[in-house]
Amino acid sequence: MEIQEIFALLTPEQRDFQLGINGADPLTKGFPRKRVLHAGLPGKMLSLTEGQQTWERLMAVPPVRRAEQSVYIHIPFCKTKCLYCGFFQNGIDQVVEDRYVDYLLEELQREEKSPRLQQGLVHTVFIGGGTPTSLSARNAERLLKAIQQCIPLANDYELTLEGRVHDLLPEKMDVWLSGGVNRMSLGVQSFNTKVRRQLGRLDDKETVLQRLRSLLDYHQCVVVIDLIYGLPDQDMAVWQEDLKALEASGVDGADLYQLNVFDGSALNQAIKDKKIARAATTAQQAKMFAYGYDFLTKRAYKRLSNCHWSRNNRERSLYNSMAKAGVTMFPFGCGAGGSLDGYAIMNHRFLKAYEACVGKGQKPLMVMMQESPLESIARSVIDQMERGVLNLNLLASRDERLKELRWLYDLWEERGLVHNNGVLFELTVPGQFWQINLTQTTLECMQSLLTGKNTLAVQHIAAQEERHDS
Ligand code: SF4
Repeated sequence: MEIQEIFALLTPEQRDFQLGINGADPLTKGFPRKRVLHAGLPGKMLSLTEGQQTWERLMAVPPVRRAEQSVYIHIPFCKTKCLYCGFFQNGIDQVVEDRYVDYLLEELQREEKSPRLQQGLVHTVFIGGGTPTSLSARNAERLLKAIQQCIPLANDYELTLEGRVHDLLPEKMDVWLSGGVNRMSLGVQSFNTKVRRQLGRLDDKETVLQRLRSLLDYHQCVVVIDLIYGLPDQDMAVWQEDLKALEASGVDGADLYQLNVFDGSALNQAIKDKKIARAATTAQQAKMFAYGYDFLTKRAYKRLSNCHWSRNNRERSLYNSMAKAGVTMFPFGCGAGGSLDGYAIMNHRFLKAYEACVGKGQKPLMVMMQESPLESIARSVIDQMERGVLNLNLLASRDERLKELRWLYDLWEERGLVHNNGVLFELTVPGQFWQINLTQTTLECMQSLLTGKNTLAVQHIAAQEERHDS
């Protein structure tokens, strides 16, 4: 079946989701909405027993020589819950935190002697959350010591600690930096005091800038921040001020995330109750994206992935690029996610279940899923699209049935979403805004072409956006 025939079988609504809206402004109306949270192909769920056995089997085997590996460690506590957040797990309680860190260290020490860790190297460690910077100085010190002891770090390792500007206090920063942290990723979201405060962020603009400066003054770590566009009361003028403040702050890089208002979130409810202004529409967000792209490009920031920018060569963003490329990621902690040799893994999200599993000497798996047989080629697509390109000739060299994708990309070129530079397709600015849709459609077309089954007429997931926390 040819690719046009597959699309001909879809309803007009499904075609708009897959291909975009014909004749519309590609930036603001390119697609009805964002389709998925993360682009990918479905896998096959394992039972928990199979999951445990699979984990033990894979950790008992040394890695392929020189393979890059990464570690993700989750800290599921936040001082306050931000209004827009869909990732909050637990408030802060020192007794609960102390006990959690005991279990987390036990989970790490359980794998310390495994051939997979012992005989390999780990290139990046990301301590994410939640709010890892909320850990007490003592618990942060314990965790960082355990990382140095249990994880074979490559000599050019990247160790990121995620968190909030509010925690940038000398007694904490000293512990993080002397414990091996060499990259800090901080949620700012907006510098505007009103916008921040009504979301539940704690500090005003001046305090945020002053605390970022105090961290940069150590000259010991890369500092990157998250900004969100489309927040309530953050119109284009406020967004422009946010970008100016980003530049003035002197940080090494930034993620620019599109706000996602989750159904059932506190933000959605507050908007419905008219306690807070409406968030920007998708069309307004698209214009903010384009403005941010232009602003940073003109100032020679380098775009490392669809939403991540670096100001200098110190910011490598190794963890994020390895995660997108599907590099091995060992998960540790309550709610941590990872992947290992074709299996996606999620640890228990609830503290009691997590602690019970670790207490029994088990890997605290909640879900283990065998990834699609097409995962390797899908990762290659995701990795390229994150960098704003797709080399169809390279894909077709892996399987010539994928030459058919050319029809799709020629169509998107006509619609202003991609541009053929003679070697590969580059995503235009509108194409970058809708990148997640282009990627997901490419993957689903690829799957249909390689399996002979029409997987395009699926129920699509409602508007989602990239994860942004802390
Ligand atoms: S945005 Fe970050 S700090 Fe705020 S509640 Fe969510 S995980 Fe916690």
